Amino acid sequence: MTDSKAALLTVDNVAKSYGARKALDGVSLAISEGEFVALLGPNGAGKSTLFQLLSGLFVADGGHITICGQDIRRSPVKALARIGIVFQQATLDLDLSVERNLMFHARLHGLGGSVARRRVGEELAAQGLVDRRGDRVRDLSGGNRRKVELARAMVHEPRVLLMDEATVGLDPGSRATLLAQVHGLCATRGVGVLWASHLVDEAERADRVVLLHQGRVRAEGTPAELIATVGVDSLAGAFAQLTEGGGRGTPDNPKS
Ligand code: ADP
Ligand code: MG
Repeated sequence: MTDSKAALLTVDNVAKSYGARKALDGVSLAISEGEFVALLGPNGAGKSTLFQLLSGLFVADGGHITICGQDIRRSPVKALARIGIVFQQATLDLDLSVERNLMFHARLHGLGGSVARRRVGEELAAQGLVDRRGDRVRDLSGGNRRKVELARAMVHEPRVLLMDEATVGLDPGSRATLLAQVHGLCATRGVGVLWASHLVDEAERADRVVLLHQGRVRAEGTPAELIATVGVDSLAGAFAQLTEGGGRGTPDNPKS
């Protein structure tokens, strides 16, 4: 590992059960600076469970997680200060303006008034939303709401960005825009990204793909490596083969 590619996030042999159900079973992965890692898995694979552990909402039954070298159990405040997160379910206040949603978040992260205003302005500019800053979130399209969530996730300048099924419900154009924005953050700011999705096409440009199925990492590598390992002609083919037997959930029976 070189200095320029220091691991920003490490997940080491992490396990998490809900009662008798093992949602995660010995999961390990790492993300370096500037790296876009796709966490690809069908519904029920355990993606959101991993995000809940990474965001400190739950504690793993076993294993270790570090963010920028800080163990999330021993130093949760320092560790969590370095992540930005967009959850699967939107968490904006619909009745507040775009700017107030972001200012609230900035203050929670300890940014003072003028710094907070500057950072909020910069992130809204990065998303092309400066002219919408005074609008209520309720009046924004789904695509713009997701952009606001991305801007909010970046306000405190995290080193690691976690995106959980961030494009669900968006039209193809908005999906592509959001994905391109996040790839851009890797390239221009060196942010390490974990992008969870069940959609294979969103993983095609990833630096690496971690394929999660029924709580276990089934394969890991560049898209080309996965395709070669499985001996198929597309990432979709590799995904289908490696998740054969089906996930526990389907789009009609997503998960709890
Ligand atoms: P994904 O995000 O990949 O769709 P989840 O992490 O949501 O997967 O779910 C992984 C497994 O854990 C599924 O079988 C799901 O039903 C189960 N699960 C998730 N959350 C809970 C919970 N709070 N209680 C019980 N089981 C859960
Ligand atoms: Mg999920």
